[in-house]
Amino acid sequence: MNRRLMLGVVVALGVSSLAGCGGGGATSGEQRVCSAETFVPNYVPLLERLLYWEQFPVTVYFERDANYSDYYRTLARQGFDQWVEATGGVARYREVDSPDGAQIRVVFKPDTRNGLTTYTYYPSSGRLISATVEIGVRGNNPIDIRSVAAHEFGHAIGIGGHSQNPDDMMYTSFVTNVPLQITPNDLNTLKTAYCNYFIGRTRVAPPPTDETPVTVTIRCGHDH
Ligand SMILES: [Zn+2]
Repeated sequence: MNRRLMLGVVVALGVSSLAGCGGGGATSGEQRVCSAETFVPNYVPLLERLLYWEQFPVTVYFERDANYSDYYRTLARQGFDQWVEATGGVARYREVDSPDGAQIRVVFKPDTRNGLTTYTYYPSSGRLISATVEIGVRGNNPIDIRSVAAHEFGHAIGIGGHSQNPDDMMYTSFVTNVPLQITPNDLNTLKTAYCNYFIGRTRVAPPPTDETPVTVTIRCGHDH
């Protein structure tokens, strides 16, 4: 089913994309064990950036505004859970019932079917500080809402860009009524962002920084 053409080919590495690889694991002087070729195939070279949270679970808060519903929240969680399952529970989240201290904030948008993720991170390391996920719910299609949630969560946990393969979860757009699936390309790309977690190395806490964070928004569309 998954046609993965040319994706085994890892071309020239996007150097800036890799700054977040390992998330502080390859500290100065240590051997460098993680690269964009550790988990293949992937689309790391196509990304603007790979980002990472310092630790899991990340905390998630569903905004209780006029567009909130338990139904949407359930669908969104089912989408998020695709990543939890695919990573064997490494990339996981904990829902909190207050926006205070929530790392990822989720809002539902009735005027669009599309999704959008805005995140704030330290530019030198790619370490995430906060993210907001907007999930379009126009049309009330549960398949699409679940898919958009899963796609945006992929951004929110570190995939800063899109795949060029329509089969991948992180392709830039989606076809309505066709459930998005996490492919090996998607999973390997995320694993690259958290490389140390997946090769059994202990993660090293990043040093304090007075660096000014940057905020970036990724907009995602769909076909028709
Ligand atoms: Zn996207």
